[in-house]
Amino acid sequence: MSATRSTCPYCGVGCGVLAESFGDTVQVTGDTAHPANGGRLCAKGSQLAETLKSDDRLSTPTVDGQATSWETALDVVASKFKDTIDKYGPDSVAFYVSGQLLTEDYYVANKLMKGAIGSANIDTNSRLCMASSVVAHKRAFGTDTVPVGYDDIEAADLVILVGSNLAWCHPVLHQRLQTARAGGAGPTVVVIDPRETATATDGDLHLPLRPGTDTVLFNGLLSWLDENELVDRDFLSASTEGYAKALLAAREYHSPAHVAERCGLNLRDVEAFYRLFARTPKTVSIFSQGVNQSSVGTDKAGSIINVHLATGRIGTRGAGPFSITGQPNAMGGREVGGLANQLAAHMDFEPEDVDRVRRFWGYERIADQPGLKAVDMFDAIRDGRIRAIWIMGTNPAVSMPRANDVRLALETCDFVAVSDCVSSSDTAAYADVLLPACGWGEKDGTVTNSERCISRQRAFIRVDDDARPDWWIINEVAARMGYGESFPFTSSADIFREHAALSAFENDGSRDFDIGALQAISDDEYDALDPVYWPYRDGEPPAASPIDIFAGRRFFTGSGKARLVTVRSADVAVSACDDYPLLLNSGRIRDQWHTMTRTGIAAKLNQHTPEPLLSLHPLDARRFGIADGQLADIESRHGDARMRVCTTRSVQPGNGFVPMHWSDRFASASRAGALFEGVCDPLSGQPELKSEPVKVQPASCAWHGLLMTRPAGLPSEWLTDASYRVHSQFEHCEVSFLGFDVRPDDWIGRLNAALPAPDRLLQVDGEAASQIVAGISGDRLEWLALLGVKSRHRDAGWLARLFAETKLSSDSQQAILRGLPGTYKPDVRCGETVCACFGTSRAAIVNVALDGGVQTTDGIGAAVKAGSNCGSCLPEIRHLLDEGINGS
Ligand code: SF4
Repeated sequence: MSATRSTCPYCGVGCGVLAESFGDTVQVTGDTAHPANGGRLCAKGSQLAETLKSDDRLSTPTVDGQATSWETALDVVASKFKDTIDKYGPDSVAFYVSGQLLTEDYYVANKLMKGAIGSANIDTNSRLCMASSVVAHKRAFGTDTVPVGYDDIEAADLVILVGSNLAWCHPVLHQRLQTARAGGAGPTVVVIDPRETATATDGDLHLPLRPGTDTVLFNGLLSWLDENELVDRDFLSASTEGYAKALLAAREYHSPAHVAERCGLNLRDVEAFYRLFARTPKTVSIFSQGVNQSSVGTDKAGSIINVHLATGRIGTRGAGPFSITGQPNAMGGREVGGLANQLAAHMDFEPEDVDRVRRFWGYERIADQPGLKAVDMFDAIRDGRIRAIWIMGTNPAVSMPRANDVRLALETCDFVAVSDCVSSSDTAAYADVLLPACGWGEKDGTVTNSERCISRQRAFIRVDDDARPDWWIINEVAARMGYGESFPFTSSADIFREHAALSAFENDGSRDFDIGALQAISDDEYDALDPVYWPYRDGEPPAASPIDIFAGRRFFTGSGKARLVTVRSADVAVSACDDYPLLLNSGRIRDQWHTMTRTGIAAKLNQHTPEPLLSLHPLDARRFGIADGQLADIESRHGDARMRVCTTRSVQPGNGFVPMHWSDRFASASRAGALFEGVCDPLSGQPELKSEPVKVQPASCAWHGLLMTRPAGLPSEWLTDASYRVHSQFEHCEVSFLGFDVRPDDWIGRLNAALPAPDRLLQVDGEAASQIVAGISGDRLEWLALLGVKSRHRDAGWLARLFAETKLSSDSQQAILRGLPGTYKPDVRCGETVCACFGTSRAAIVNVALDGGVQTTDGIGAAVKAGSNCGSCLPEIRHLLDEGINGS
């Protein structure tokens, strides 16, 4: 069978993949012909095949928890929405959708809400991702236009990464950048981030600025450039407006010394950065969630765009400001108008736009003003303004700020429908109606990546159960609500043609988003569509790479000039205080995605960071009386969480970092979203997820457990008295990391009762009542339990490896009894895992570096394989080689 070309469903890089079926198994590899990745995949992309089959699959529609037919479920959704609208008006209903949806799904959802229903209460989880960049683009360019492509990064002489841990969040783009820099060539890299991330360790200059002070740094740069006559006066006068006012505001931070003091930076570093910027015309500034997820996110993005406009570094190869998106189809959502403050096809709520879209869709009236943005939407459910919501492909009970309030809102909402492909997401628990949607590999449509490249996601596995494409579900509900005439779609290709036609409708070059050349695409052409960049206007040839959309130095503002915006260097809305002395940051880790509904079931992806970790500076750990590896309680004004502490100098004193991923499905109480208030940027409505004042104290757990079983199901009754519980799927076993306030009674007896009885027990009682018990059947290890006053979480890696042995060796049995790996395996695949693809531990890498004298990443790859497949771990290996070996 030939391979199916599709697109990775995770981050905004939008890598092309080839999926090939071999009987019951599927192999997913990188597509060498795709312009985004040229065949590369990161760890998440490499493990896609492992995520295709899930025990948690939502396979049949349910109403009030009872399985039912599609007819019944669709009737219930349609009638509940219709009744609510009849009774309370169109603004009493809402859709909360997702950057995981395909463009075609997004298009019909938007048309149903803004067109047929006539409300703009449709918002997307992309609100949490890049809404601030959207507004910043519109303020500067008149449109939400991303002016840079991936080739520009490689063509640049200077790449500035602001609030972007590219190495972990957009790994393939990071690999492209590092490849361009191989052998000392390629761009110089400056990383601006409060944390010393994997990206920062791979760069040339790291500016660990105080959280939230990005505008000070860039305003200071603008002021310094002007003072030193380093701005492009010709470009400023011919192609921009607003410079004088922007400069006046920027002059508040008039000297590098002033900037350094305010940002908490070394003056030498600030001056070095400013000089580097000044002498490097080919500069690309990449920014991401560290900029966007802020109560001043729009201004942060605006201050970056300002320095590009002041120096004319836009519309030329190798230069420009580049907002990269977190999600696979955040850009597609922006194209159709999936945000509540957009109408459709890059048109807003100006009267002429509303009239144009109304005529195109053929309604008497459509939404004519913005709807409620995500945070406001869930608040409106709580206060009864919204009475029915349909949540599609996202998990707001975990990912939204004030996630506990979101749960309350969903609990009290009159009607909640959820479309998803998994049944046990935290949000699904609140659904009156659950609608099984097709997942990746089953659905068919298009997505747009960060560089405006439209790619096909194609179906390559058969849908065995009752799941349906999202667009079909929406279409059916629309028909049942009486709007069938304007939802005649029978395929995703049908929808794509209408979407393309709307983009070109009365456009004539007045709007940036135009894919009119595709409006008459045939079904066969749609099936075969190669990656294509927009704009792609009718009559023009397709572009093989993103065109310099501003090469003509004309922008989509009324005057045709770009606008420098006045950016005041305001602080973020929150700060630490005596009661909540730590400022908490949140974000992604290397191998997980969103709330782990997909990546959490891929065993290899759980090895790098199997538990949610609170990163603390050693000084703070001491101040709060917590040791490395100990469990801690984190409390904010809005919620709490329990996580394990990892002490590290990668965070600054006074700051902490937590991952955003863990939900109740994988951990008892480790939801980061519950901690954050999410103060919104006033312009974009994007909530602050980078700064939250919290207090931290040692958790009450006096006993620590580690329970490992073959994947036969964990004894849930054994776990109920654990006050900390994190569940992780490893390659050959399931692992539970446990904490107990008091020693669990008769835990060996309970284990024996709960798990399949083993042939024999291997047991050792150690100091302080610690115990190790192994259940062995035949020659195979069936389960392993460790309990003690000291946590043994770090032993999970090597112990899990023992489950791979079909005949447990006497060395391994001795290792269990000693509680140490000892002579187990000469390549020491134990301890913390660095390489997900091959399970190579930090210890193994250090050993070959120290004992074998290996000092290159290629050498490490040859010796212990680490880094030789997807390359996601290369920054950590480089860091280990550069600095980490001594500390090992
Ligand atoms: Fe997928 Fe990784 Fe590519 Fe992102 S970088 S699209 S997660 S393979």
